Parts: sequence; C-alpha cells; structure tokens
Amino acid sequence: MAKIVVEQIPVLADNYVYLAHEPLGGATAAIDPAVPEPVLERLAARGWTLTHILNTHHHGDHTGANLELARRTGCAVVGAARDSERIPGITQEVSEGETFMLGHAAVTVLEVPGHTSGHIAYWFADSHALFCGDTLFSLGCGRLFEGSAEEMWASLRKLRDLPPDTMAYPAHEYTASNARFARLVERDNEALKARVEQVERLRAQNRPTVPVSLADERAANPFLRADTAAVARAVGMGPGSDPSQVFAELRRRKDVF
Ligand code: ZN
Ligand code: FE
Repeated sequence: MAKIVVEQIPVLADNYVYLAHEPLGGATAAIDPAVPEPVLERLAARGWTLTHILNTHHHGDHTGANLELARRTGCAVVGAARDSERIPGITQEVSEGETFMLGHAAVTVLEVPGHTSGHIAYWFADSHALFCGDTLFSLGCGRLFEGSAEEMWASLRKLRDLPPDTMAYPAHEYTASNARFARLVERDNEALKARVEQVERLRAQNRPTVPVSLADERAANPFLRADTAAVARAVGMGPGSDPSQVFAELRRRKDVF
C-alpha cells in the first residue's frame, strides 16, 4: 500500500520527465528520462538516489538519458520485453499485466501499442497514478507511428477503464494545441469547455496542465470519446458507427490539423 511522491521536470521543448519516489523503501524511478542533467539536479535537490528508470517506449526523447544515468547511478532500466532491442541499457524486461515493486510500491505494466508497437504504461494503483508516455495526452493521444487505429483505440480504452480518480501523467505538454482541435470536434461539450478555460489559465501562468484525472479526460478528450454519437457526428459518421473507425478518422484529421 506504499504511496509514491511525484516530481515533474520539464525538459526539451515540451517533454516531462517524472520522478516517482517511494519513501519507505527509499526507491526512486525516473520515468522517460530524455536528458540526464535536469534529472540529476532534481535528485540532488531532493536527496534521492535513483534506483530505476522506467521507459514507456523507445523514442529518443524518452530514453536519451538511460545510459548516462545508469552509468552514474547503477540503476535498473525497466522497459517492454517486446522492445528490449530498442531500449538502451535495458536490465529488466516487463510484459502485460506484470507487477513489480518500486521499493514498497506495486507497479502494474499495461501494454498499450499504437504510438509504437512496444509502448507500455506504468500504473501505481495504490497511488492512483498512471505514467502513460505518448499514448494518452490531455485532450489528445499519440500519433500512430507503428500501430493501427484499432490497436490505439483498444489501448486508450484500456487506460480509460482504470479507476476514474487515477491521475494520468503524460510525457508531453501538448494540451493547449490539443485543445484547439478538440474544441472543433465537440463544440457543445461543457466539460471540454471548462477544461479548455482551465488550460488557458494555466498556460498563461506557464504552469503545467498535467497530471489530469481519467474522469476529466473521459469527459473532455475526443480521442477517449470515439464511441459517442457526438464525436461520430463530428467526423461525418452515423451514431451506430464502429468506434475504431471513428477514432481512425479523428486521428487522421488531427494529423493534418
Ligand atoms: Zn514517442
Ligand atoms: Fe515523445
């Protein structure tokens, strides 16, 4: 039942690296460390020792600091078994449904292919925290580089079905640009309207818009709402349409937005 403390580190143009610290066991994970220095600085400021790197997928803006951090701290590098060839320095291969420990905190692995074929998410159930990489963004979702729309829609539903008070920690601050697209999809969605106003306030103060609860995303994110009549209608499809086809059309439109 041990809970984690989360630190959010903005790096590069719009990435977030997260530190998840479990105080009882003294374990600390860096999730998707793009670059080493800001991570090492934050660890030093908190007096934490890095014990794990958790990678959601192989892209360089998520794994760029793996080798340097592992060399300097001797930490474990956790990543998807099916992507082990592409995760630099991987020492611990994990798969769907598997649970491992970060100190005394249990972490469950969810395979969520679509953005990449080996993309995974890390769910800390007792802390109501989900590190979802480039699969789910606030008011958006990742591009389909290696997977089909069907796969991505199934992955998003898997995340959507977690407890609604789960806080999602995406790897990018894309919310403001996602909001512009989302507003065109669902003009009458009051939850979306309220979220967009909140996002505008936060960004005007240069503050992060994430984490965000799955309940809020489910109400406002059009990519989690491809099985609603309103979103089907917005992409010119009827209310009985196959949600994965609605999702596919939505993703196509966002790609050229
Ligand atoms: Zn990526
Ligand atoms: Fe990324």
